[in-house]
Amino acid sequence: MLNGIFDTVLGYTPACDVLSLAITIAVLILLRVSYVSKSKSFMYFCMMLASLLVASVTNLLHYRVLTDHSASMKTVGYICYIVHSFALLFFMFDFLLYMLEPMLLDRKSYKRYAFAGFWICVADLVVVICGVVFGFGHVIHDDGTVTDEANPFLLAYVFMTALIVFVMVHYRDHLVKQLFNGVLFMMALAVLLIFMQINFGQRSFTVASFGLVTLAILFLVHSNPFDITTGAVGESAFDDMIADGYKKHKDIMVMSLHLPEFDSHTRMPSEITNLIRAMSTQYLKGAILFRIAGGRMVLAFHISKNPAYENGMNRMLLRFEDEYAHFRFDYKIVIGQTEEVLSRDNKYLTFLDFVESRMMINDVKFFEKDDVETFIRHEQILEEIKDIHKKSNLNDPRVLVYCQPVLNVATGKYDTAEALMRLSLDGIGMVYPDQFIPLAERYHLIHTLTLIILHKTCRMIRFLDENDYDVKRISVNFSVREFRDASFCSEVLSVIDSTEIMPKKVGVEITESMNENDLPILKSKINELKEHGMTFYLDDFGTGYSNLERIMELPFDVIKFDRSLVLSIEKTKKSATMVDSQAQMFDELGYKVLFEGVEDENDEISCKRMHAKYLQGYKYSKPIPIEQLTEFFEKKGAD
Ligand code: C2E
Ligand code: CA
Ligand code: CA
Repeated sequence: MLNGIFDTVLGYTPACDVLSLAITIAVLILLRVSYVSKSKSFMYFCMMLASLLVASVTNLLHYRVLTDHSASMKTVGYICYIVHSFALLFFMFDFLLYMLEPMLLDRKSYKRYAFAGFWICVADLVVVICGVVFGFGHVIHDDGTVTDEANPFLLAYVFMTALIVFVMVHYRDHLVKQLFNGVLFMMALAVLLIFMQINFGQRSFTVASFGLVTLAILFLVHSNPFDITTGAVGESAFDDMIADGYKKHKDIMVMSLHLPEFDSHTRMPSEITNLIRAMSTQYLKGAILFRIAGGRMVLAFHISKNPAYENGMNRMLLRFEDEYAHFRFDYKIVIGQTEEVLSRDNKYLTFLDFVESRMMINDVKFFEKDDVETFIRHEQILEEIKDIHKKSNLNDPRVLVYCQPVLNVATGKYDTAEALMRLSLDGIGMVYPDQFIPLAERYHLIHTLTLIILHKTCRMIRFLDENDYDVKRISVNFSVREFRDASFCSEVLSVIDSTEIMPKKVGVEITESMNENDLPILKSKINELKEHGMTFYLDDFGTGYSNLERIMELPFDVIKFDRSLVLSIEKTKKSATMVDSQAQMFDELGYKVLFEGVEDENDEISCKRMHAKYLQGYKYSKPIPIEQLTEFFEKKGAD
């Protein structure tokens, strides 16, 4: 009897709604156990699922109560029908909002479409309720059969579908192509299903047809597949976890493992992925593993869920070191707690790179607030340097020239000096070379800074010349990589020319950390500038590995002995002899030897004994603003 009603009289079989219900519940459970970003879109998606749940339950209930012919059951039937209609309308409205979200419309357009959808749903609901109350819509007869005199829901369905399709097509440039195609295709399939069921006098497939669209979205947007070997999820999921933690003020512990050898798409061996997978679930509750590009894995967990996390973390590190001894791949581990300044725009990946660049290989570093502050400062400095580069103003007031006068041993006077760069930045203050030269070099911004220093130095030389000071030259520090640029020489010469001084008044200091391939280019560029009379200094001789053969290849004029050599003279007789013989060799080969970092009387005496032609260091002067050089240089003709 029961089946008879469902099948023949109503054209309804509960099988489809039971299946929809089961699938909806299954999806909800899967979303719970997998890692899905808790974005606004996801919230809409969950509401869509909830609507489906309610729609299928009420539909099942509606037809179930029809078997009971009592008057009160009829009321329940009507209520179920109304709630069912409401759930489906709510689903459509929610779906509209869902699709509007990634389109990033302006407020006015967004409101227009959202309101249109809202009013279609409200109007339809009113008609559905009136239809029930006044008997022109859904009617439940005393014998348990139903008739639909009119089907207002179908009208709303058509309107809403048309509205959503219109918005999607109209703004298709705003949508990811795969989402556009996938959703549109599923909608077409759903509409087809609805009209086919009408054609066949069926009612069973309504909820299931809505489920199709939901599946499309789930598959395209919210599935975040686990890597089958490590159990990790992708990088965007890491962004989401950080954003969620920031919004809800939850402290998250971040553990990063970087294996630099796997930077270039090389797969990690299975022993490592197995170890990582095992460890990521074993020691910490609710920890999520993220796979980041460039051989990095990040394990993150909420501190609130792991009150005794230190214990778990330490056990994990011990196990790692233990097992990792067999693999012998280089690694760097960085661990620490989220900080608001980093979480706001998720700067963790840049931050981790930064921390790693300052630590040893095969080491573990726990970062602290201090590291975060240093990093933020670095970021600010980098922004400023980028801006200086963008404006390329040779008079940029943020770039300051300091100078250190150099003593000419033969005359006992100061007639040369070295220009040293400083930055004066708003909100940061004075910044010294160790904090910005490496940064400027890494981002290829150093050349702009050099040209500014060169320009300002040349202007000072011109001022000293015009005021009769006896200034032989001022040397400027260059980075070797600047020489690679084809227009290097012409740019340098044009800056010097623009200040109308002679190029021979400018010295160039470079360090010997050159690579083999650069040598011929470097040599030709140095020769080109030397033809204009410029003097070349080899900076920092004695730090690191000095390749004498290579040094001799290049036409340097002055060899700057690093302060470390000055210190070593005073340490042992043996090192004194070594420094002495090197200085003597350069002297005999026609180079001029300059000792850097002469701090006191003792240093001076030792250096003078070692063929020093020039002396530079705190004994004579700390670096001073370039304008103060007038206190050291003498006027021509003065004795
Ligand atoms: P450098 O070229 O070897 O410069 C000498 C550094 O030693 C300067 O540090 C100077 O302040 C310091 N110094 C001078 N006398 C003494 C002394 O008696 N004792 C000690 N302990 N130190 C002394 P600063 O100004 O911090 O510069 C550091 C480095 O930054 C420079 O080393 C140079 O490699 C780089 N640098 C500075 N200005 C520029 C620039 O305009 N361009 C480029 N590419 N690099 C620059
Ligand atoms: Ca130097
Ligand atoms: Ca030096």
